[in-house]
Amino acid sequence: MSSYQKEQTDALSMVHQYLTSLFPAERREFESLVADYLLFRKDIDIFLSEHFGKICTQNCYQNNISACCSREGIITFFADVVINVLVSQKNEIEVLLKVLQRPNNNYKCIYLGEQGCLWRVKPIVCEMFLCEPAKKKVFIEKPWAQDKWDELNNRKKMFTWPDRPVLFDVLEKYFINAGYYSSLMYMHNSPGLLRVKKTGIRG
Ligand code: SF4
Ligand code: SF4
Repeated sequence: MSSYQKEQTDALSMVHQYLTSLFPAERREFESLVADYLLFRKDIDIFLSEHFGKICTQNCYQNNISACCSREGIITFFADVVINVLVSQKNEIEVLLKVLQRPNNNYKCIYLGEQGCLWRVKPIVCEMFLCEPAKKKVFIEKPWAQDKWDELNNRKKMFTWPDRPVLFDVLEKYFINAGYYSSLMYMHNSPGLLRVKKTGIRG
């Protein structure tokens, strides 16, 4: 198991174990914390399917390339893990933990299954990555889609960019206060993000 896989396994198991141990009222508290974010993710899904569904299917999905999903090429925030575990069924988490046990000698992400990503709510970095050729093609044909995309990117910052209290920071704090730590807690261990928190640098 690579260090990437171990880091992912540790975070996933810890979050799964903790969330399973919560009383229903505590769990509901988590669910209400992430409700707006899930609505935001739904809006991105609608946008991507409307504007990029065709080009991504033609360029990557039909021929099984999935160029977005390269091996160990993505940053997973701790909050990504928490949100995904919250919305997933137990068997879906077990599938993730199982694939993480396998050696990955492939050039593709370990989470890429036959039907696409195995996460129910994939990491935000994956969700909002669009390759330059696809963006160029779509945004030249539909400039208004570029405006919508910029708006979605600004909305993303309201949840992820810690120049103000944001969900991704709050979720880390919640676990830290409960006595947990993960190397994926970038809001608390990335020098760049700590500087943003301290100085309020706009993203
Ligand atoms: S954004 Fe680009 S690389 Fe990613 S799936 Fe679409 S066409 Fe492929
Ligand atoms: S986590 Fe999912 S979407 Fe992200 S790179 Fe891996 S397979 Fe692709």
